[in-house]
Amino acid sequence: MLDNKVAIVTGASSGIGRAIAKKMIEAGATVIGVARSEDKLQSVKEWLGENFHYKVADVSEYERALQVVREVYEEFGRIDILVNNAGITQDTLLARMDKEKWQKVIDVNLGGVFNYTKAALTYMMKQRSGVVINISSVVGLYGNAGQANYAASKAGIIGFTKSLAKEVGKRGIRAVAIAPGFIETPMTENIPENLKKLALESIPLGRFGQPDEVANVVVFLASDLASYITSTVIEVHGGLAF
Ligand code: NAD
Repeated sequence: MLDNKVAIVTGASSGIGRAIAKKMIEAGATVIGVARSEDKLQSVKEWLGENFHYKVADVSEYERALQVVREVYEEFGRIDILVNNAGITQDTLLARMDKEKWQKVIDVNLGGVFNYTKAALTYMMKQRSGVVINISSVVGLYGNAGQANYAASKAGIIGFTKSLAKEVGKRGIRAVAIAPGFIETPMTENIPENLKKLALESIPLGRFGQPDEVANVVVFLASDLASYITSTVIEVHGGLAF
C-alpha cells in the first residue's frame, strides 16, 4: 500500500509511533523516525531493520526541524508522508497548573506539529503531493479534567489540520487528524487502576486499544485508498462515550 513512499514519523521510539513505523514498513515504506533518545531509536532500528532510519531531535525545536526535514529530503529524494505523533502529558488540575507545565505541553504537542509540518510542506508543495497525519486525542474533542494543557494542544492540532487541508488541498496535499482513545502505551501505563476501571466501563468494546490499531488507520490514511479523505478527524476509541 505504501511502496516506495518516504515517511517521517515523530515520536517513533515508543508506543503508537513505533507501531506506526512498523506498520508503514510492512506496507512498503521507508520510515525516518524522529525522537530525543538515540538509544531508543537504535533499538527500534534493530527491531525494524534497514527500512527504518532515524534522526535524533526534540520536536519543539524549530531550527532543528528544518534541518532534519532538509536532511531527509536530501538523503531520500522526497517526503510523501509526515506523521506528527510525538506528544507528552503533564497532568494536573488547572488550579494547580503552573505556566511551565502549560507551555511545555503546548510547545511539544502543538509546536512540534507546526515545526515539522512547516518544514515538510516546502517539499510537498514542490512535489505537488503529500499526506500530513496528526495524532490528536479524544481529549482534544471532549476535554478531560486534569488535562487542560494536553486537551488544548490536541484541540489545537485539529484546528491546525483543518486549516492546513484548506490551504493545500489544491496542491495535491491531504491533512488528516486521528483522535485515539485509551491506547496501551507507556503514556497510559501509570493511570491509577480505579481510573482505568472507570474508563473501561465507558468503552463499548470493553478493552483499551493497542498501538497497532491506531497504526493500521495511519497506514490506510497515508495510502491512496484514502485519496478523497482530508480535513477530517478519525476517532479510534472502541466507541468510548464521554
Ligand atoms: P509514548 O510516551 O509511548 O510515546 C511518545 C513518543 O513521543 C516517544 O517516542 C517520545 O520519545 C516522543 N517524544 C516526546 N516528547 C518529544 C519531543 N519533545 N521531541 C521528540 N519526541 C518526543 O506515548 P504514546 O501513547 O505512544 O503517544 C503517541 C501520541 O499519541 C502522542 O501524541 C499522544 O498524545 C497520542 N495519544 C495517545 C493516547 C494513548 O492512550 N496512549 C491516546 C490519544 C492520543
